[in-house]
Amino acid sequence: MASSIQVYDTTLRDGTQGEGVSFSVEDKLQIVRKLDELGIHYVEGGWPGSNPKDAEFFKQARGLSLSRALLAAFGSTCRPKGRPESDPNLLELLNAGTLVVTIVGKSWDLHVNRVLETTLNENLRIIRESVAFLKSKGLTVFYDAEHFFDGFKANAHYALSAIKAAAEGGADCIILCDTNGGSLPSQVSEVFQRASESVATPLGIHAHNDGELAVANSLAAVRSGAAQVQGTMNGYGERCGNANLCSIIPNLMLKMGYACLDDGQLARLTEVSRYVSELANLSHNPQLPYVGASAFAHKGGLHVAATIKCEESYQHINPAQVGNTQRVLISELSGRGNIMYKARELGLASLPKARAQAVLARVKDLESKGFQFEGAEASFQLLMVRSQEDYRPPFELVDFMVVVEKHRRPSRRAEETLSEAMVKVRVGDAEVHTAAEGKGPVNALDQALRKALTQFYPVVAQVRLSDYKVRILNEGAGTEAQIRVLIESRAGDEAWNTVGSSANIIDASWLALADSLEYWLLKTHQANPSPLLLDHSIP
Ligand SMILES: [Zn+2]
Repeated sequence: MASSIQVYDTTLRDGTQGEGVSFSVEDKLQIVRKLDELGIHYVEGGWPGSNPKDAEFFKQARGLSLSRALLAAFGSTCRPKGRPESDPNLLELLNAGTLVVTIVGKSWDLHVNRVLETTLNENLRIIRESVAFLKSKGLTVFYDAEHFFDGFKANAHYALSAIKAAAEGGADCIILCDTNGGSLPSQVSEVFQRASESVATPLGIHAHNDGELAVANSLAAVRSGAAQVQGTMNGYGERCGNANLCSIIPNLMLKMGYACLDDGQLARLTEVSRYVSELANLSHNPQLPYVGASAFAHKGGLHVAATIKCEESYQHINPAQVGNTQRVLISELSGRGNIMYKARELGLASLPKARAQAVLARVKDLESKGFQFEGAEASFQLLMVRSQEDYRPPFELVDFMVVVEKHRRPSRRAEETLSEAMVKVRVGDAEVHTAAEGKGPVNALDQALRKALTQFYPVVAQVRLSDYKVRILNEGAGTEAQIRVLIESRAGDEAWNTVGSSANIIDASWLALADSLEYWLLKTHQANPSPLLLDHSIP
């Protein structure tokens, strides 16, 4: 049977030290539940002695019923010259009411002398006594040996004495920390070897990512006997982050044959990774290995053609093992295979080769004119729909006019800029003419188009624009540059992206806006029935 590795998540404590990461108490409780479902063994909730929010979290966490995960509270050893039983920080740890506590202490002589400002012997005493005090309360005690690798480099004898003190105190696991994140995997292996010869206590690893080696260092530590790996979801953490558990866990299980989570739980990894980024209010990094949206995305025509024949030809694992999916991107690099793949994804069993070829030619032509379909799937789907000879669009533009006027009203002191748009569209045999004002020219155009369409298609009112991005494509050309507009629209839980490109920003916006509404009309079956209706979920 495969030996098993304990996973200790510190997203809620060390992870929140990352720039831009912040969780409310409610967020933290929800993340604990999610990590428990994923099967994480230990979840560090915070440092109750350092801030009231973490103390409140532990109060509320008592009500959680977890099936697997054990909650851990974090703190540090007692102060020099102090006694553990009267140390406010250690007493706060007891108050947190968890079965597991983790305390951090110094192992680098430089830190003992210059930062803690005490003697080397006094530091050993506070480590030993703090661990022993918490053990005497019947708790599972993990000891984080801060700066262990740097300390070992500076004074190996002292660094080893520091973990021996934790072992004498009775620590259940001693975690060697690469706090500054600059160690190499070969160094980690060597130091682990030496540490495991010095103490009988199980060892763990806590690595930071400053040399982009946190995952590699964690795996090297496991190879050298670490029984526990600490890290965070998506690698959140101070500076360049902590070791990313979303990479470590699948590497341990799928590549190195260790037992860690149940197989069924591993298949939830992508979902949990995205859930945590959602609550952190950070966009999920598409390039994250295993769990990122691009981790199994294929763009080049040759790769796609090969993956269609044989899925594993360009993938290191089956994405389903970590709950991710293969994606095929559409771009000027595509081959006919990309188009056929997309057609199948849309439920079109047979897209005639000639038509796939025509769609591909159109994609390449439009991309050369500044469109980009990779980030605008809805526009690409419309391209496929429009390739049918019998397709009749739900509306067609006859013309539009946009007026932007800046003037000073005598009654008010401020200058005002007014935007108004007039739109003429054809719906079936009817021609409608509307006008609307807006906060800017694009907004006015959007309002006027909606006004024209709502009487025929009330569902248009469901659509709201959630993001509007403008990109200048040939920067050197200044105000004559080609412009790409990408729009994200939403209705209920659904979101879709459309693109427009032109030398004129209003024109580019119009194309993306019109695509957005046309897409929703097809999706909600408001347009002429077509064998190519997009009634499949938006990928
Ligand atoms: Zn850390």
